[in-house]
Amino acid sequence: MTVPVTPTLLYLDNVTVSFDGFRALNALSLAIDHAEMRAIIGPNGAGKTTMMDVITGKTQPNEGTALFEGTHDLTALDETAIAELGIGRKFQTPTVFELHTVEDNLLLALKNKRGPLATLLSRRTNREQERIDSLLERVRLPAQRHRRAGELSHGQKQWLEIGMLLAQEPKLLLIDEPAAGMTDQETADTADLLRDIAKSKGVIVVEHDMSFVRALGAKVTCLHEGSVLAEGSLDAVSANERVVEVYLGR
Ligand code: ADP
Ligand code: MG
Repeated sequence: MTVPVTPTLLYLDNVTVSFDGFRALNALSLAIDHAEMRAIIGPNGAGKTTMMDVITGKTQPNEGTALFEGTHDLTALDETAIAELGIGRKFQTPTVFELHTVEDNLLLALKNKRGPLATLLSRRTNREQERIDSLLERVRLPAQRHRRAGELSHGQKQWLEIGMLLAQEPKLLLIDEPAAGMTDQETADTADLLRDIAKSKGVIVVEHDMSFVRALGAKVTCLHEGSVLAEGSLDAVSANERVVEVYLGR
């Protein structure tokens, strides 16, 4: 009897994206496992954001394969369908509802299928309250639950937005430069939070702050000119001569 193989969570192979002949991604190949965290580094223009655009269906590759859980062809699906498969993306700027409380932001994210007003006016069920409580714990905001999101620090807003993504129960989270603009303590807490999330979900983090990348304790992929330049432990990638030349040494 053969042991069933769990397909890779995310599989990119030979993905190329051309803008007027310029290859933002050039035969990019990358695989992310279930419950794996991966840090993506590389100079500006390396293709990091374009890679996330391909995974989330914002950009169609000209060539290549992009599979989720082995069967879902991401190149054939639109952004909504990909989000529904369980791929969540966090952009650099937090997009929370500033005038609503932290709790209400999470409630809105839990029930995003109903209109926001109907959601806030309806009585929340015990089940919903339990989920809000557990999300608050997870993103370290129980003490802030009744504050308006607009009053939170930059770091706390980022965590709230991560909580809102977790409310959708994604299987893979894509996070762009979470540590930018954070205090040292917030940066350390964010690394803890992401490590915690990656115990049960795939997490791809694009980041420039090398001390933060170290705190993630994840495998690192360095992109350059739309391809993988180096991949491995942070120590191995940092010691790679080409990585030093195009990125770290500058
Ligand atoms: P990174 O996020 O690593 O800084 P990007 O993925 O944003 O890199 O960009 C990769 C390259 O593709 C850059 O040279 C950028 O100028 C180019 N690029 C990205 N998006 C577009 C677009 N819509 N049209 C033309 N060129 C683009
Ligand atoms: Mg970018």
